[in-house]
Amino acid sequence: MYNPSSLKAEEFICHDEIMDTLAYADTNKDNLELVDKIIEKAKLRKGLTHREASVLLACDNPEKNNEIFALAEQIKKDFYGNRIVLFAPLYLSNYCVNGCVYCPYHAKNKHITRKKMTQDEIRQEVIALQDMGHKRLALEAGEDPVNNPIEYILESIKTIYSIKHKNGSIRRVNVNIAATTVENYRKLKEAGIGTYILFQETYHKESYEQLHPTGPKHNYAYHTEAMDRAMEGGIDDVGLGVLFGLEKYRYEFAGLLMHAEHLEAVHGVGPHTISVPRIKRADDIDPSAFSNGIDDDIFAKIVACIRISVPYTGMIISTRESQACRERVLHLGISQISGGSKTSVGGYAKPEPEEENSAQFDTSDKRTLDEIICWLMQIGYLPSFCTACYREGRTGDRFMELCKSKQIQNCCHPNAIMTLKEYLVDYASPKTKKIGEELIKREINTVPKEKVRQIVEDNLGKIEHGSRDFRF
Ligand code: SAM
Repeated sequence: MYNPSSLKAEEFICHDEIMDTLAYADTNKDNLELVDKIIEKAKLRKGLTHREASVLLACDNPEKNNEIFALAEQIKKDFYGNRIVLFAPLYLSNYCVNGCVYCPYHAKNKHITRKKMTQDEIRQEVIALQDMGHKRLALEAGEDPVNNPIEYILESIKTIYSIKHKNGSIRRVNVNIAATTVENYRKLKEAGIGTYILFQETYHKESYEQLHPTGPKHNYAYHTEAMDRAMEGGIDDVGLGVLFGLEKYRYEFAGLLMHAEHLEAVHGVGPHTISVPRIKRADDIDPSAFSNGIDDDIFAKIVACIRISVPYTGMIISTRESQACRERVLHLGISQISGGSKTSVGGYAKPEPEEENSAQFDTSDKRTLDEIICWLMQIGYLPSFCTACYREGRTGDRFMELCKSKQIQNCCHPNAIMTLKEYLVDYASPKTKKIGEELIKREINTVPKEKVRQIVEDNLGKIEHGSRDFRF
């Protein structure tokens, strides 16, 4: 029985409801009257239901698809302006007791190099990340109660926040660790994390169980209900995602939106972010072994449909994707990207030796952070290192309310300008600095409120003279 307000995984992600939705979408994908009606509803910028969105995803009318892409681009501009937030992943440990068949960290993999960073090694990595210019990290770890207990994760977070190297600091630590208990989520909240991210991998229960044959992650309900426990533990910014390629994308898309509807129904706040990873080659993983891979066109359509269905939810794309693919979907709804990433345990302070391999997957976009910042500006974006929202208490429903009323732009845009300025002064190459300074001059003029503009201008001068961390 489908019930978005239920706390039972199989009721809020109801297989029958997804199958009915897919059938409804198939029946109606050429019903242009209905498609138009749904597009009109999406234009109100209040989102779409999983059923409506699934019709648009299934629709293959080129003219309607162009309308969907154009609307996604417009909604992206309305809610996020031209800002793109930057972050980097930091892999703490690849010890893992699970058997996920798509991930090289699976317990049976005896040839991958297992590593767990000491606090001192984390310190070196964080200094290297700060020297690149990063302010926001996503912590990653395998699931292993002996090697990576919650105490280790908490100690690592404390270490990361404590490091102040030159003008650098990590101001927001997001965490992507396995599903855990309410008590542990409470501890993560107390440690000052930003978003708790957990990819569902697949919403299809039967496939889920086959893809996770062993280990605690095998438990579909425990995994799927994790966000409810995280919210109960006080974490009100949670990040969803599926690993595209594992199951049929239309099934995953409907499941993802049902999960968002569930969070909204139960906790009054939808997901803070949605990630869209695709399976990549890795140590003993061959993506072609998975028959549900999606091409770049479908991928772009998924991003656009998510954008118009949950306009107020941030969307993340990692360096799994190439520069060309990232450029395409930035326009369609992505608001956060990683840059200069390493998916190995360690590797930022000094490259991993060739005879070792601890990486989770191969990256496609291998450019440095500086190259990415420069590129973003050249293609019309304003790179942002802002971490203000959660530090100002703008989380959960407070963030969503501001975002839905578009007020968030009155803080985000000036914060983006000021944090970009920090980057340019402290870390940028001469070329990036030149392009960035010109961009900042243009962007300041677009700050609507005279008073805010004045404060930003004052702060930019103070940043030149060594002050840091201004925020609205
Ligand atoms: N162990 C934690 C968990 O179970 O959620 C942390 C997540 S793991 C470090 C980060 C994510 O990488 C996984 O959730 C999965 O979706 C993704 N991943 C695993 N193998 C991958 C592969 N071969 N290609 C791309 N992404 C992969």
